[in-house]
Amino acid sequence: MKRIFMLLTTAILLASCGDAKPKKAEEATQEETKVEAKAEETKSEEATQEAAKTEATDEKVAEEVALEITGDDAMKFDKNELRVKAGQKVTLTLKHVGKSPKDQMGHNWVLLKKGTDLAGFATKAMAAKDKDYIPSEDDIIAHTKLLGGGESDSVTFVAPEKGEYDYLCSFPGHYAMMKGKLIVE
Ligand code: ZN
Repeated sequence: MKRIFMLLTTAILLASCGDAKPKKAEEATQEETKVEAKAEETKSEEATQEAAKTEATDEKVAEEVALEITGDDAMKFDKNELRVKAGQKVTLTLKHVGKSPKDQMGHNWVLLKKGTDLAGFATKAMAAKDKDYIPSEDDIIAHTKLLGGGESDSVTFVAPEKGEYDYLCSFPGHYAMMKGKLIVE
């Protein structure tokens, strides 16, 4: 009787051992699947990062743009329209291609914030001779220095949101002739 009981116990132990084995194997398989899944995840993550990097590089190419505009002794800009893309880093160079001195035929390039009244700004600018006709920076996105004939100056700014923005020369009396639009696409 005792012996039979022992055998039974052994059998049960063996049986449970036998049960345990496939379970462990199953777990191992699941573990493997998990690891594989994780590897896949890492791979696709890497791919995403790679794609993002490529995109960033592509964007960088178009991220910066250089513009040039001239002003002359006939009180004219050579362009009344400039185009950029929103968020682009813009470097604008103004060249005074005339010969007249700054106090007679001074030119600057002043880009106004959206909604700023051009004539109102120009009137305020007239009274700001001591600041080279830049009355305050509040209405301005960017501006160059005031130039005389033969001089040039560059200004760098980030193109604002899509829309149309007025630019002008704020030297007294010039804005009627010397104005244009920066179109942000
Ligand atoms: Zn001017």
